[in-house]
Amino acid sequence: MNDFHRWVILPALIAIFSGLALAQEPPLRSISYQLSMSRPTSHLFEVQIIVEVPEQLKDTPLQFQMPKWSPGRYAVFDFAKNVQEFRANGPVKRIDEQTWSIAPQGKTIIDVSYKVFSNDLSGTFSQLDNRHANYNGGSIFMYVVGHKPDPVKLSIHAPAGWRIVNGRTDRPGQTEWQFPNWDIMIDTPTEIAPDWTEDDFVVDGKKYHVVVHSFGPEGGRRAALVKDVEKIVRAEVGMWGPPEFDEYTFLLHFAADDHSGDGMEHLTSTQIIQPGALADPGVYEGTLGTVAHEFFHVWNVKRLRPQELGPWDFTRPLATRGLWVAEGFTNYYGHLMLRRAGLVDDKGFLRREADTIRGIESAQGSRLMSAEESSLSAPFLDDAPHAQIVNLENTSISYYPKGELIGMVMDLLVRGRTKGKASLDDIMRDMYEEFYLKNPNSSYYLRGRGYQTEDLERVASRRAGFDLSDFFKRHIRDVQVLPYDEAFAYAGLRLVKTQSEEPYDVGLSLQFENPREATIRNVENNSPAEDAALQTGDVIVSLAGKEVTKDWRRTLARFKRGDSVPVTVRRDRRTIKTNIVLGQPERFDYKIEEKADATSEQKALRAAWLSGK
Ligand SMILES: [Zn+2]
Ligand SMILES: [Zn+2]
Repeated sequence: MNDFHRWVILPALIAIFSGLALAQEPPLRSISYQLSMSRPTSHLFEVQIIVEVPEQLKDTPLQFQMPKWSPGRYAVFDFAKNVQEFRANGPVKRIDEQTWSIAPQGKTIIDVSYKVFSNDLSGTFSQLDNRHANYNGGSIFMYVVGHKPDPVKLSIHAPAGWRIVNGRTDRPGQTEWQFPNWDIMIDTPTEIAPDWTEDDFVVDGKKYHVVVHSFGPEGGRRAALVKDVEKIVRAEVGMWGPPEFDEYTFLLHFAADDHSGDGMEHLTSTQIIQPGALADPGVYEGTLGTVAHEFFHVWNVKRLRPQELGPWDFTRPLATRGLWVAEGFTNYYGHLMLRRAGLVDDKGFLRREADTIRGIESAQGSRLMSAEESSLSAPFLDDAPHAQIVNLENTSISYYPKGELIGMVMDLLVRGRTKGKASLDDIMRDMYEEFYLKNPNSSYYLRGRGYQTEDLERVASRRAGFDLSDFFKRHIRDVQVLPYDEAFAYAGLRLVKTQSEEPYDVGLSLQFENPREATIRNVENNSPAEDAALQTGDVIVSLAGKEVTKDWRRTLARFKRGDSVPVTVRRDRRTIKTNIVLGQPERFDYKIEEKADATSEQKALRAAWLSGK
């Protein structure tokens, strides 16, 4: 409640003091959204926007715009693709793919309506069907151009018996909301269905709601899940201190369709979609992993944020250099917090980090794309659709695992070089205080202001007491291998790299349509497969004279360096025979092991790191 009221008061103050807000047009008298769903099986949400314009704007065209993407996932999806039947009470002119313009012709009430097709259960898109409505506001609500900072009202008309819930619900049966601006409205994903459940808990006086909508069996695991979610909340609040809100909602969806999966962070909620049912093996653990990640975003990304993360320009792709912090550090802490919450043990955590190291160190893109470039390439990565054939698998690196390793190594270097006096936890808290809590508001959207990666470099160096500019130069703006050995040694650990039992993949990634038919999904650059003129899309007919199966690497392991392995592929209408000549072993395993001679000081540092105490 308090959080909500603070939001209502802020924009008024900012409108007075902020030059940015003054540059906008005079505020509209009111903007009201009506969301209806009269035919759920059509997957069509019905949106109506009623705008009251002041006298001085009654002859100025008003533009309504659908965002090209929405916060948290930076690929351009062009939500306007799914808009249909746009109508208004004045002449409508479509200006471009995302914008509709209305001539008010002297009217002071503009009434616009449209439908949006929505059939993706996802934190990024929306779904309406006969089971439920679940939406991400950015994929269904247009904004009025020039008036994103204006307050908005939302009324939802749900089918009889369907109940509405979101992270800004403050009373049962609520159907109307006031939001300080459009950005906050679309930051409020909403679930509407007859049969979701809610379990609550309180940590340090803040109330948490765990809303679950299951499309498959739960196996009696929901109560335990809620308890474990609470452990994660306690671990993360333990690091950051009390969160700013009074209430927070986990919207958990178990899709049981084996393909819908997503996790999306918001200011007072998260939307988590699991492809399986809660009763399925591994789904429980996977859900906790996503919860730990998304809840960490309460601080890192939603409030402490790179400068470009809000308010956003939804007419062009996002350009920020900070996603390796925003997402990568969140990945690191998501894993670490499962350990601090007692949900995985030390070995489990270290195994996971070793797997991330294997992924990064065996990816060609690691030596071609820096953490900052990866962030700038976000619109091409992270579920971005590609109509043209691209080489990104060989040239790019994801800011999630790359940033995760940067976070872990930075944490250990700071802990080690300061003999445990400082840590990345301290640096993140310093950043939160400086940029979120203490900085004057830089826009209507949110408290404080965003940071640049140079700011993190400065704050980290100040807290650590040594200069991190060389680290940033080598490992954030360039692609040099992280100093794993130094970092792990401080914790009495070492990274062990061994040749895999199946040391060759010859630069091929295969995709199996069925157990006996493999299509080449990717050919690495400068690999034996590329030398053999194999191509993405080739269907492998035989490898080493045998039918190809899922353990094809075992077939290759019978050969040695310099051997020639015959391969037959089908490409278009031709059958092509070629030979792959094995080069150096290419596949390695990584383990993070305890050093036999670890000192008690190193062990204490490790314990402090893993426990957060
Ligand atoms: Zn649902
Ligand atoms: Zn994230």
